[in-house]
Amino acid sequence: MTDALPEVRLYNSLTRSVERLRPLEPGRVSIYTCGSTVYRYAHIGNLRTYLFGDLLHRTLEYLGYEVRYVKNITDVGHMRDDTPDQDRMELAAETEGRSPSEIAQFYTDAWLTDERLLNILPADVMPRATEHVPQMLELTATLLDKGLAYEVDGTVYYDVSAFAGYGKLSGQRLEEMKPGHRVDVESDKRDPEDFALWKAAGEHRLMKWPSPWGDGFPGWHIECSAMSMHYLGDRFDVHTGGIDLKFPHHEDEIAQSEGALGHQVVSIWMHGEFLTLADAKMAKSAGNVIRVADLPSKGFEPLAFRYLALTAHYRSKLDFTERAMHAAASALRRLRRAVAEGASERTDADLSAAPLAGYRDRFVAAVSEDLGLPAALAVAHAVASDGDLTPPQRRVLLLDFDRVLGLSLDAPVGGEVELPEGAAALLARRAEAREARDFATSDALRDELAALGVEVRDTRDGQVTTVAGTRSG
Ligand SMILES: [Zn+2]
Repeated sequence: MTDALPEVRLYNSLTRSVERLRPLEPGRVSIYTCGSTVYRYAHIGNLRTYLFGDLLHRTLEYLGYEVRYVKNITDVGHMRDDTPDQDRMELAAETEGRSPSEIAQFYTDAWLTDERLLNILPADVMPRATEHVPQMLELTATLLDKGLAYEVDGTVYYDVSAFAGYGKLSGQRLEEMKPGHRVDVESDKRDPEDFALWKAAGEHRLMKWPSPWGDGFPGWHIECSAMSMHYLGDRFDVHTGGIDLKFPHHEDEIAQSEGALGHQVVSIWMHGEFLTLADAKMAKSAGNVIRVADLPSKGFEPLAFRYLALTAHYRSKLDFTERAMHAAASALRRLRRAVAEGASERTDADLSAAPLAGYRDRFVAAVSEDLGLPAALAVAHAVASDGDLTPPQRRVLLLDFDRVLGLSLDAPVGGEVELPEGAAALLARRAEAREARDFATSDALRDELAALGVEVRDTRDGQVTTVAGTRSG
């Protein structure tokens, strides 16, 4: 049965090549993704990274693999460089006048809302770092036993020079890293590249746990080693994250996990490229972070962003611009229209019959080759415009592809924002004006929008537009 599963090839950052995925257990793939740090909103660029993990998840399930997917929640351990005693969770708590756990819950909920808006499937397990401190302590103790770590006044550091493989993921060489590449305020380390596994808690520290080395709290990197191995075992198939996590986070994770176990733990490391906020107008939002939940106030549905993310390979940079979002929204409408047209007739299309099978083979080939979503989208558009297919055949194929694309292609086309030319730009400017509490500009823009036939109402969730009798949020 499992022999019949299509071969999947993925780019492995560790070997720097596209290689065949060979699951440790045939037909089953275990994946760990570094999740959000929940002391602030996840910005839209972070969401591109989680979308990439979702595409891997969906692609493997579409191809018939069973997937075990773990994505963590970092709710402790992001240290501030200037005040090593306080982590960012505590700083946010202090700033916002709430407890660290309230802060963590608030931003976790916000992040998961953004994920839902983008049709990101939930992971099987979403472990919180604060609930896995015993596993981190155990791993830290093992590394001390093995001579890979040392303690100074209640803080335990990883001794990078003791792990021969250090740098193999990022290609960074220890000798090159040494002299003053990174500013470090921790002066009690033997080597500037050593990193904290466990930190002694200072007097004012709120989030702290007892340990054999006194009260303290875990470092950031140790949590992903501890939680990934706790849920996925001593060896697992794929580890994903944003390209910014490759060094030092993932390099340190390898040093910890492999140092403790003495063998390779992760088979394939995958990294998603950045979203570039080239368009200042699109990048701007309240709190300096643009969220997926902000998109409607800029005139876009969140799934238009998902579509945009599919147009670029995950290993390529992608520009987030108003123009690109318009193109994405309009292409998404094209696919939805094709699906809607097929709904009026009885659906008796058989996916295994030619020419449907031919299209499906092309789609499978595209997604199996290092998640080639741009090529897969091209197949979807070829289906949508193929006049030799019947409308129900087009519909059945597109809905099948949508199991990977995740674009809600069966969403009612009538329920969408069909904005006249130029209206989205005006709406974005108006959202900005409102954020800046510039109500004169906001009112002037409302009049300009009205002239285009777009009526705007302001709600708690942002601007709601009415166009030619169709309401949409
Ligand atoms: Zn991580």
